[in-house]
Amino acid sequence: MLYGDLRREVADAFRRLEELGLNWGYSGNISVRAGQGVYVVSPSGVLKSKLRPEDVLVVREDGSVVDGRGKPSVEFKTHLAVYRARRDVNAVVHAHPVYSGVLAALRVGLKPVLEELVLYLGGPIEVAEYAPPGTEELARNVVKALGDRCAVLMANHGALACGSTLEEAIANLGYLERAAKVAVYSRILGTPFELPEETVELERRLYLERRFGKA
Ligand SMILES: [Zn+2]
Repeated sequence: MLYGDLRREVADAFRRLEELGLNWGYSGNISVRAGQGVYVVSPSGVLKSKLRPEDVLVVREDGSVVDGRGKPSVEFKTHLAVYRARRDVNAVVHAHPVYSGVLAALRVGLKPVLEELVLYLGGPIEVAEYAPPGTEELARNVVKALGDRCAVLMANHGALACGSTLEEAIANLGYLERAAKVAVYSRILGTPFELPEETVELERRLYLERRFGKA
């Protein structure tokens, strides 16, 4: 099977996301850059926790399927737009976690209230403007709001995280959801304080250096 290891990783990742409470049912999509212009992508319209490695597709940049049966996720357009904009990204995860969903429904981004939000995600985190699922417009909005960061909220929809590896992209989705949960609870109890500006600047610099090798 072409890219068998990567396809197994993608199939397993959905079960992990479900165990972690970050995604359910038919929702969500995952892709990994497999080679020059070739990607491993989850299929559309399949129960994600039942995904087998052979159900994960190998797809070219133009959307044509190289190996596997079925249609690539409708959000592959968005994944592709992220890969084109970000050479540092090799894996993209889109899911519908609850607390990220709360902020996405409110169309409220994440202020730098936690260190990990800046250090690992390059935050503050923005909300991509609303566009219907599977559209080029959504792809453009996501890339714009993502910028040089590793996570973004999608208005009235969910969340997207990326990374150098699938492992990192999943961890980043976890950081995003935890920060969203902290934001929701802390707003219920009061007004959260933001990190000092100098700390945000320093941690953003560390993030950019680690990610792109420059400040
Ligand atoms: Zn979605």
